[in-house]
Amino acid sequence: MLTYHIITIGCQMNYADSERLASRLEENGYKKTDDKYGSDLVIVNTCGVRQSAENRIYGLIPKIKIMNPKVKVFLTGCLAERKDVKRRLKDYVDEWMTINKIFNPPAGRAGFQFSIFNQFSNLNFQINTKHVVNYLEVTPKYESKFSAFVPIGNGCDNFCSYCVVPYARGREVYRPAQEILKEVRGLVIKGYKEIILIAQNVNSYKSEKPPLNLPLVKGENVPLLTKEGSKGRLDFADLLKMVNDIHGDFWIRFLTSHPKDMSLKLIKTMAAGEKICRQVYLPVQAGDDAILKKMNRGYTADSYVKLVEKIRNGLNDKFPTRPNGHSSGRMTNDKKNAVVWNPPVGITTDLIVGFPGETKKQFNNSLKLFKEIKFDMAYISEYSARPGTAAFKLKDNVSREEKRRRKNELDKILRQSALANNKKYVGKTVRVLIEKETKAGEWFAKTATGKDIKIKNYELSITNLIGKFVEVKIAGAREFCLVGDLVNNKL
Ligand code: SAM
Ligand code: SF4
Repeated sequence: MLTYHIITIGCQMNYADSERLASRLEENGYKKTDDKYGSDLVIVNTCGVRQSAENRIYGLIPKIKIMNPKVKVFLTGCLAERKDVKRRLKDYVDEWMTINKIFNPPAGRAGFQFSIFNQFSNLNFQINTKHVVNYLEVTPKYESKFSAFVPIGNGCDNFCSYCVVPYARGREVYRPAQEILKEVRGLVIKGYKEIILIAQNVNSYKSEKPPLNLPLVKGENVPLLTKEGSKGRLDFADLLKMVNDIHGDFWIRFLTSHPKDMSLKLIKTMAAGEKICRQVYLPVQAGDDAILKKMNRGYTADSYVKLVEKIRNGLNDKFPTRPNGHSSGRMTNDKKNAVVWNPPVGITTDLIVGFPGETKKQFNNSLKLFKEIKFDMAYISEYSARPGTAAFKLKDNVSREEKRRRKNELDKILRQSALANNKKYVGKTVRVLIEKETKAGEWFAKTATGKDIKIKNYELSITNLIGKFVEVKIAGAREFCLVGDLVNNKL
């Protein structure tokens, strides 16, 4: 039996794409191996968002080919159509193609897509040539047994001046709501506890057409369908409500949200949805209006600050009954159990330092915004010029040292705010989802607000808790991690 190994670099979309690729390979007789140097086929799913992600493949791919000259190397993802990358790796890569084209070949070439795998084997990949698919329809081979990424769309129409995504992944396309709901229902029936809806801008979701043929399940989403579904397209808030209405004990997360599409309706839907995690991943990218304009982001720093205020007020000031115990900022007495605290919404962001022409004064506005918002988490990137983007034509004139310095300064503020936010958890009991067991013999879990947590009180556990909800009493807070003890009453 031929073996395959997939190396995934980049964002959660790339991981979800790899899961679809894996399922196709296995349906067609390939077997997964963890040994990248001993595999018959190695697929590298690449990321071109930053030079640092791109650089990872330049050492890795030649090494794979040198260690195992018989291996077939297939390159997909963001870099699959970049001519300079093709030139650089031509001796080491056997086949290049974007994920979308693998599953959805250009007209007249139906059947081609899996012939690229057939070349490498005597297997005969079959595809349905009559039904040219949105590849997201392919049933994935989920990596996790309790948490699943569910892509609701792909691509981006926003053309932020620094970003390669609209070129690498193409224009926005969204999956029909019924297809998404079917995937989520299937996962919930299998016992999945965390559904993570993903897209480049998840909250820009628009169903392709009115979902009149949605399969109605008794008790789920009927009012919504008759009121809004018959009128027109669904937006992300509608979709989120429908996912929330699926019966079962599970959490819903979604990422990332574009500030321009974060509507009041969506905030209200989050506030009312008992399964919707109180975590918003809202990339700001810069705290200065002139830079935001040059980035083509479509909002100002002030409107971003006001939006976060709205989110916090909308989610923290209202206390709907939330059976899963995560309404915010309040104690709820969960009958036989300890008092469960519902933490305030966690806010995560992305920010780029050293965009072309960013002055120290403009950077100081990013610092000011960080101090004002008090983020729980932030991914701070040094600007990286990307071929083909509008900003590529601008002079990348902030030195590497200065970018690093700005990043460190922001990181300092982030650590202070994250620690202060985390300290609020100490002494409280919260509901968490156990993700894994660490080598040190601790459980590693996540709160509904997206906080990592290490659980020390290990000897109380008599069963494997991975993929289970438990209650934990928080004993300590670090900058990006909480520490707690299992509350034994549910085990
Ligand atoms: N769609 C999301 C949004 O609107 O912010 C972000 C998706 S983007 C693929 C992921 C992150 O990569 C961005 O939030 C940005 O901070 C970072 N990024 C994208 N292009 C970059 C570049 N040229 N240099 C540095 N960081 C970049
Ligand atoms: Fe890139 Fe902007 Fe689209 Fe996000 S919204 S994927 S940053 S172009």
